[in-house]
Amino acid sequence: MFSKVLIANRGEIALRILRACKELGIQTVAVHSVVDADAMHVKLADESVCIGPNPASESYLNIPSILAACEITGADAVHPGYGFLSENSRFAQILEEHKIAFIGPSADHIAIMGDKIEAKKTALKLGIPCVPGSKGEVKTESEAKEVAKEIGYPVLVKAASGGGGRGMKLAKDESEMGMALSTARSEAKAAFGDDAVYLEKYLGKPRHIEIQVIGDGKGNGIHLGTRDCSLQRRHQKVWEEAVAFCLTDKQASDIGEICAKAVRDLKYSGAGTFEFLYENDEFYFIEMNTRIQVEHPISERITNIDIVYEQIRVAFGDTLAIKQSDVSFWGHAIEVRINAEDPQTFMPSPGLIEHYHPAGGVGVRVDAAVYQGYRIPPYYDSLIGKLIVHGKNRPECLMRLRRALDEFVVSGVKTTLPLFQRLIEEPDIISGNYDIHWLEKFLAKTE
Ligand code: ADP
Repeated sequence: MFSKVLIANRGEIALRILRACKELGIQTVAVHSVVDADAMHVKLADESVCIGPNPASESYLNIPSILAACEITGADAVHPGYGFLSENSRFAQILEEHKIAFIGPSADHIAIMGDKIEAKKTALKLGIPCVPGSKGEVKTESEAKEVAKEIGYPVLVKAASGGGGRGMKLAKDESEMGMALSTARSEAKAAFGDDAVYLEKYLGKPRHIEIQVIGDGKGNGIHLGTRDCSLQRRHQKVWEEAVAFCLTDKQASDIGEICAKAVRDLKYSGAGTFEFLYENDEFYFIEMNTRIQVEHPISERITNIDIVYEQIRVAFGDTLAIKQSDVSFWGHAIEVRINAEDPQTFMPSPGLIEHYHPAGGVGVRVDAAVYQGYRIPPYYDSLIGKLIVHGKNRPECLMRLRRALDEFVVSGVKTTLPLFQRLIEEPDIISGNYDIHWLEKFLAKTE
């Protein structure tokens, strides 16, 4: 097994990875920016290295600094977590050249799936159903209008290098195409340095359903079931559930097997997620994330499989020890993302945490990296923790979530906890009657 893993991340995911390493008897190295010197992942790691100033571009995204930290500490593997360098194929490549293991898929797989146009082409070849759209990049307005006429309006212009909902623009009809195309392009150029865009049919009331997979790069691959992540704001997930309760068991196992087979055919190594939109009983692939995801704990809860353990084991070269027939699903799990944000305006709310009391008790897991007296810096993502509840079925889970939300105390900064307290009383949430647009409409209504 690896002797020392460097965790190239911060916040709750750095702590999550650190915990897995400790349990597996692996030494840990935390890296951090100047302001993060007193962060929890730094306090709990065996060693830590300051890799640069506060802006992520100079620290958590600084490849030479991270390489130097590996060299100084003698780390033999790097876990990138999510965000930052996790889907940077060049980083995976550079580590390989330095004989340091990247705990994630091969640089080639990251590159293919990171380009959404290539990812869709690959998905189609693997027999995965996709959203109707352009065959590849659309270059000119007239070409876009021609393709859009074929697939039918409304149409979504999407960035090939997209992520986090950026570079995505809706054209309701032909008159809006020119504007949608140019704004998507410039947003994509600014955010990703790549202005390639493609078109997709805009689905009116889909759910977001995704499949967690793990492969070992040797042709073994399994799925860990479905998640429903339809509750989103600005294309960002805020509340996730496993399993996707709108599907029958057969639908879930059929789409799961399609994804597991793709993992085997690709000889994909590591954890990954196939994301779909689901409408009128049909699945439409939108993208694959080649990394651990924020919402992975809900799949862990219902399967009792530690996904981070498996990531580490297959990155070391072990054969996947779990067969599909070993994977069974128990009960239901829900995760809500606790962001340090105003629950009405969603403006970030960094600052000092005066009181912190996480929920506990039966069926409750909290993945967070904050403590009383901790000062949330203004430089990074506002996610400060995740509340995960597990129960024998969805009603029990909702009951438990309501109770856990009542217990949870974070004061000194604003958080999204009050939003979840409102959501859990909503009849549509209780009955599970929501699609990807539900939350935005709810927020607009209650402004
Ligand atoms: P990103 O990588 O930027 O997050 P995705 O392709 O994963 O982009 O899409 C994110 C979200 O945007 C989806 O969960 C869904 O809410 C919305 N979306 C994406 N494609 C479509 C589509 N064709 N029709 C309607 N909504 C879409």
